[in-house]
Amino acid sequence: RAKDQGRDCYHYFTEELNAQAIRQLVLEQELRLALNTNQFSLAFQPQFDFKQGRLISVEALLRWNHPSQGMVFPNDFVTVAEETGLIVPIGNWVLRNACKQIRQLQVVTGRNIKVAVNLSMRQFHDEQLEDNIAQALQYSGLKAKYLELEVTESMLMGDVDMVVARLTRLKSTGVSIAIDDFGSGYSSLSYLRKLPVDVLKVDRAFVRDIPEQLHDMEITAAVIAVAHKLGLKVVAEGVENIDQRDFLMINRCDYAQGFFFSRPLSYTGLNEFMQRNECRQKFELSIYPPED
Ligand code: C2E
Ligand code: MG
Ligand code: MG
Ligand code: MG
Repeated sequence: RAKDQGRDCYHYFTEELNAQAIRQLVLEQELRLALNTNQFSLAFQPQFDFKQGRLISVEALLRWNHPSQGMVFPNDFVTVAEETGLIVPIGNWVLRNACKQIRQLQVVTGRNIKVAVNLSMRQFHDEQLEDNIAQALQYSGLKAKYLELEVTESMLMGDVDMVVARLTRLKSTGVSIAIDDFGSGYSSLSYLRKLPVDVLKVDRAFVRDIPEQLHDMEITAAVIAVAHKLGLKVVAEGVENIDQRDFLMINRCDYAQGFFFSRPLSYTGLNEFMQRNECRQKFELSIYPPED
């Protein structure tokens, strides 16, 4: 009986594996087709400067307009794209199009906003990344100082000298570097000190339960303070309400991104958002900040 059961389990297990392998293969083929038939698009989520109360940057977020499933979000396909290596050409498409659309928006609005692009692990280790960045900048006419690359802590683990060399070469193209989802991985603030990065994005998980979770507030405040001592700017991700905004402003966080200010927008939506220019009231504190 036990033996039978074992065999059933085994069968079940391999069937599951097969089903998953097939799903992955289908997805891979679909992603290839998506790239060749223009099914990808970008959404842009505004980032605001707390001091100026202004939109100063946007994060480019990949969207897949699937022919039968409708909009598919990156968490549902980036892993397979990464495993198959397809993320490299897809990531290149993102780089070129983010630069091109934001350069166009700079011209249309007369404002030099920045754009942040998410890199994948494969792209980060790709020897051709610098060339691809240079090409995207040249093709779009966007100046390097308006492009920011977002990397995650996991990409920065390993041999410190190698990581520093990698980041230094990337920065030599003139772009800035942000660490995305900071606090969700295993890197520490003391490790960060050694890395040539510019911006730290505090993970949404720390912002989410402000003001209920005292510990999250303490961690967030401490991360902001130490980051500033290291000369880094801090972006808070996932700001959804006034309490979170007030807390971050009072603790001198530099920039904010989140549904409270704006959801990710299409190019047209972003253009309209910038023309309306009505975001100032989002920065009027509901409580008084402490004196300097
Ligand atoms: P991320 O880089 O941390 O991007 C922020 C994600 O949080 C976005 O999800 C955004 O829509 C969402 N978000 C922003 N504000 C709020 C908020 O106030 N509340 C909540 N609940 N969520 C908020 P999205 O667009 O689904 O992207 C998910 C992840 O997929 C990104 O996380 C990033 O890691 C990855 N990704 C997106 N675009 C690309 C890309 O072009 N290349 C690569 N390699 N990865 C990408
Ligand atoms: Mg990001
Ligand atoms: Mg993030
Ligand atoms: Mg994330």
